[in-house]
Amino acid sequence: MTRIAIIGGGISGLSAAFTLEEKRLAGAPIEYVLLESAPHFGGVLVTDRVDGCLIEAGPDSFVTEKPWAADLCRKIGLGDQLIGSNDADRKTYILVRDKLVEMPDGLMFMVPTKILPTVFSPLFSLRTKIRMAQEWFHPPHKATADESVAAMVERHYGPEMVDRLADPLLSGIYGGEASQLSVRAVLARFADMEAKHGSLGRAMLAARAKMATTKTPPRPLFTSLREGMQQMVDALLARLDPRALRHSALVQSVIPQEGGWTVSAGYQSDQFDAVIIAAPTHVASSVLQMADQDLSRELSGIRYSSSVTVALGYDEAVRRSLPPGFGFLVPRSEKRRLLAATFVHNKFPHRAPEDRAIVRCFVGGDHVEQTLASTDEQVVQLVREELQQILGQQILGLTAEPLFARVYRWRSSMAQYGVGHLERLERIEVLRQKLPGLALAGNGYSGIGVPDCVRSGSDAANKVLAAAGIAASA
Ligand SMILES: Cc1cc2nc3c(=O)[nH]c(=O)nc-3n(C[C@H](O)[C@H](O)[C@H](O)COP(=O)(O)OP(=O)(O)OC[C@H]3O[C@@H](n4cnc5c(N)ncnc54)[C@H](O)[C@@H]3O)c2cc1C
Repeated sequence: MTRIAIIGGGISGLSAAFTLEEKRLAGAPIEYVLLESAPHFGGVLVTDRVDGCLIEAGPDSFVTEKPWAADLCRKIGLGDQLIGSNDADRKTYILVRDKLVEMPDGLMFMVPTKILPTVFSPLFSLRTKIRMAQEWFHPPHKATADESVAAMVERHYGPEMVDRLADPLLSGIYGGEASQLSVRAVLARFADMEAKHGSLGRAMLAARAKMATTKTPPRPLFTSLREGMQQMVDALLARLDPRALRHSALVQSVIPQEGGWTVSAGYQSDQFDAVIIAAPTHVASSVLQMADQDLSRELSGIRYSSSVTVALGYDEAVRRSLPPGFGFLVPRSEKRRLLAATFVHNKFPHRAPEDRAIVRCFVGGDHVEQTLASTDEQVVQLVREELQQILGQQILGLTAEPLFARVYRWRSSMAQYGVGHLERLERIEVLRQKLPGLALAGNGYSGIGVPDCVRSGSDAANKVLAAAGIAASA
C-alpha cells in the first residue's frame, strides 16, 4: 500500500485528493491523507449567504477559456450547476482623474483591435493613440531575457497604457504591479505574439480571424457555479474518503526518512511514501527547511500579496442608479486603497434578488497591511468613503448605511510571478527531482487562477503515482 500525504486543503489539494481517490476506487493500492491547517477545507474558496444574496469571499468565477475547473465540476456531478457571466452587460470602467471612463470596445486584454472605439475613447491621450497606430508597424522581436509586463507594454504603447490598463488589469488578477510581474510567466502569449508578429494588435486580429474560422459558438468570459464557488469544495469533499480528511492539522515539517517521508503536524508524526505540498510556496518553503535548504530558499523567493474583499449590500434605489456593467478598476496613479469593485448583481444577476445591489470591493496594493490590521468597521468605512467619492453623491442611497457589509482578509494568498519566475521554476524542479516522492502544487507555480490550481493538483497526484510505479490511468 502506497501512503500519500497532501498538505493544504484548498482547491489545489482537493483536486490532488480527488485524482488519488479516483485511482483508489479503481483499485490502485494507495491510501491518502489530506491535512489542512484551518478548521474547514477549500482555502480561499468561501461562499456566504446574507439577506438573500450570495457573497463570494474569494474567487467569484474562473475564466472559461481554461477548461480544467469546469471539467472537474462535470466529473463531480456539477455539470448542470455551471453558469456563465452575464456578458450582455459586460462593461468595465477605469477611474481616470476621479471619473469613471468606459473601456472601449475591441480591447483584447489591453490590446486595441478596433480603430473607431479606441480613437474616440477618452481613456487615452492623443499621444497614446498615436503610439497605438505606430504599434501596428512593430517588427517581430524575440526578447533574449525575461522582462516585466510594464516594460513590454510600454515598449509597444507607452507609459499611459501601463498606468491605465496593464497595471489595473493585472492588479485585479494578481494584486500585483505590472512593473514587478514577469511577462513570460504572466503573459506568455504576448511574448510569443511579439516574437512572431511584432505588433500585438496585428497578432490579436490574426488570432481572432483564426478563431472565427473554427466556428465555435461564443462562450461567456467567466464561468461559475449556481450556488457559488464553495459548491465545488463541498462536492469534492463528498466524493473523498472521509477517513482521509484531517482539518485543523497545521503541518510543521516534512522530512525525508528511510526512503519515505515523515510529516509532522502538532504533536503527531506520520510516515508516508510520498508527499504533495499544495499550500502557498512560503508554507512549502517553511515545511521543507529541514529536507533541503536550497529548495526551501528558492520557494521562499516567490512573493505573495495580500488583499481584503468587502461585500456591501444595498437596496433597489442604489441598484437602479449604479452604472451598468461589471464594475470598475482603479489605476495606482489615482492613489486610492480600492483596487477594483464589482457590481455583482450585473455580473451574476441571480446572486442578488431584484431589489438588492451587491458591490464587491477589493483593497490591496501598498497600503494593504494597514487595511489588514484595521477593524471591520474601519475597513467598511474606508471602502464606503472611496465608493462615494468615485461613484459620486448622485447614486441614490449610497451615502446611507449599507444593508449589510462583510469583510474578508486574505493574507499572502496571491502569488506574484516576478521577472525570472520561469527560470526559478526550472531550478525548483531540478531540486525537487532529488527528493523522490515529493510533488508541489498550488498557485505559486504555473498559474494563479482556479483552473490552473485544479490542474496543478491533479498533475502533482499523477506525478507521485507515476513515481510509485502506479499507472496514472489505473
Ligand atoms: C480574493 C481573491 C480573489 C480571487 N479571485 C479569483 C477569481 O475570480 N478567479 C480565479 O480563477 N482565481 C481567483 N483567485 C485566485 C485563486 O482563487 C487561488 O489562486 C486558488 O484558489 C488557490 O488555491 P490553492 O489551493 O492553491 O491555495 P489556497 O486556497 O490558499 O489553499 C491552501 C491551503 O493550505 C492550507 N495551509 C497553509 N499552511 C498549511 C500548513 N502548514 N499545513 C496544512 N495546511 C496548510 C491553507 O489553510 C489553505 O486552506 C482569487 C484569490 C483571492 C485571494
